[in-house]
Amino acid sequence: MKIPRSCGLAVSKMLDNENVKHIIGEQAEYLLFPALEKYPELGAAFAIKGARNYHYEPNSDEVDYSGIAKELNIDAESIVIPFQEHTATVAEFDDVVRDFKETDGLVTAKRGVTLCTKVADCISLLIYDPVHHAIGNIHSGWRGTLQKIALNGVKKMVEEFDTNPADLVCVLCPSIRQDHFEVDADVYEEFANVFPQIIDEVTIQKGNKYYIDTVRCNTWMLERAGVGAENIIDSGLCTVCHSNLINSFRGNVEAEKHFRNLALIWLKV
Ligand SMILES: [Zn+2]
Repeated sequence: MKIPRSCGLAVSKMLDNENVKHIIGEQAEYLLFPALEKYPELGAAFAIKGARNYHYEPNSDEVDYSGIAKELNIDAESIVIPFQEHTATVAEFDDVVRDFKETDGLVTAKRGVTLCTKVADCISLLIYDPVHHAIGNIHSGWRGTLQKIALNGVKKMVEEFDTNPADLVCVLCPSIRQDHFEVDADVYEEFANVFPQIIDEVTIQKGNKYYIDTVRCNTWMLERAGVGAENIIDSGLCTVCHSNLINSFRGNVEAEKHFRNLALIWLKV
């Protein structure tokens, strides 16, 4: 296993597990994923809370990314963010279009472009095709999960880069987990309609409340799309359980509910 970089950074054990390394840097606090770190041409990180962190607000032009960019040694100007409107649309980044309205996922094979999604309970999927050197970053909240945006992400990479799904490596960033994703019968019914094959596996019912495992819905979709189960790496972290360290819509206090974590992936120049 690659040793964390040691240029004055403390490696915190607070959120560490076999799939996650928690870094407290000078400018920002973030997570790294060993499954993606093993590719030297690839960069990926998940910026969380932290005393030094900026709080990343959705759809704001005034967010200052310079801290996390400096920390990760990327150009803040290289960060590209889809609007994230809970659609199922995945677009390819090209040099012309930078305003990705009604889009919740981006893919690219361009070096030096940082694909970003902002989340605070929803799942960010970071995807790498190490054969064709192409990346994807998909925002899959529960609405996106119901629209199977993860499948659209894989399909888009197949179309654009001739990706073989079996080559893909997919990391599921921290998100709300089953124990905290409480919904009523109406949302449960939607999941039952879209995922009849696994609805019993992914649901716990307590009285008239339902708890859905949206992580499993996404990993199941990826497996069905041909991604190897061994190449689907879950951070295993619940944003609500760790809302002291990770932004969580359901877990944050009212004044912080608009703050987001940043999922970032890029091909190094
Ligand atoms: Zn939790």
